[in-house]
Amino acid sequence: MPPRLEQRVLVLNRLWQPVNIVGVLRAMSLLFRGRASAIHADPSGHRVMSAEEWMRFSVDTPPPAAESVRTTCIVLRVPRVLLLGEYDRVPRREIRFSRRNVYLRDANTCQYCGRQFRDEELNLDHVVPRDIGGKTNWENIVTACVRCNSRKANRWCG
Ligand SMILES: [Zn+2]
Repeated sequence: MPPRLEQRVLVLNRLWQPVNIVGVLRAMSLLFRGRASAIHADPSGHRVMSAEEWMRFSVDTPPPAAESVRTTCIVLRVPRVLLLGEYDRVPRREIRFSRRNVYLRDANTCQYCGRQFRDEELNLDHVVPRDIGGKTNWENIVTACVRCNSRKANRWCG
């Protein structure tokens, strides 16, 4: 694992109380699934940003190398603090990881456009791309329609 992916990110609940410390991949998964916002603190105060805003911020305000991950087409700033939208409870019961079960969990709903599709119109999508270490597991795989899946390939390219 590249050393930069070993950074730790503080996770706050809606009351801004720390609830967890997570790794970079988990943090980006939370951010890019819309479960959490990224918080950037500077002398003017706190800015709370969505994934899209965070990507723009990363481009507009290039982060120091030690605080970034480089994908094939963007240098993404690693957030130091995330703010959860709702408490992200991960069920501890072991459920077999499979395409069908991911569709089931997501109710056959594309996690990018929010529309429902039949199985054959859906794909599994890596929220954090594989080329920077995104895993194939419950946390990093979501249901995506074919259209969003191909469009999302460009998302990491600004
Ligand atoms: Zn879609």
